[in-house]
Amino acid sequence: MSGDAMELTIFDELADANTAYVRDGGHHMVPVRPSRRLAVLTCMDSRIDVFAVLGLELGEAHVIRNAGARVTDDALRSLALSTHLLDTRSLALIAHTNCGVFDPEGTIDDRLAATMGRAPASRDWHTFTDPRQALRDDAERLLAWPDRPDGFALAAYLFDVETGALEEVVAPQTAPAV
Ligand SMILES: [Zn+2]
Repeated sequence: MSGDAMELTIFDELADANTAYVRDGGHHMVPVRPSRRLAVLTCMDSRIDVFAVLGLELGEAHVIRNAGARVTDDALRSLALSTHLLDTRSLALIAHTNCGVFDPEGTIDDRLAATMGRAPASRDWHTFTDPRQALRDDAERLLAWPDRPDGFALAAYLFDVETGALEEVVAPQTAPAV
């Protein structure tokens, strides 16, 4: 199978899986507002099954994902809509061990350039050198987020990709009122 054919085959597999999902009653309608008023911000890493890890069901939480689970402007864009328009109030921030955004040597630009054969156009990778410190920094940013709703609460965890266990890094707390 050529590279192109292999890259396209995945879409057939996805379409077949969706047909089976609908046929087997995998989907059911739920209200748009997350019933547990929860948002989760975590990494895009393929080893984190967010709903299974946290015991969540369809319709219970928003899940915002990016490389590194960083509190970027775009994560805050999603969180503003989640909290103010769809009534979530608690945020679980979940980084993980063995993350690709962990870059203690500061080599990510060089590694990308080596793979791409040129310098990448995008430059802000939101890398970190210490995952627990990154969680503490991001939690601090969230607690001081000017658009936070009243009663906004958060906790931050480090997910172990080998055991599936969460380590609490920032204890559950409520942000000061705006
Ligand atoms: Zn990651």
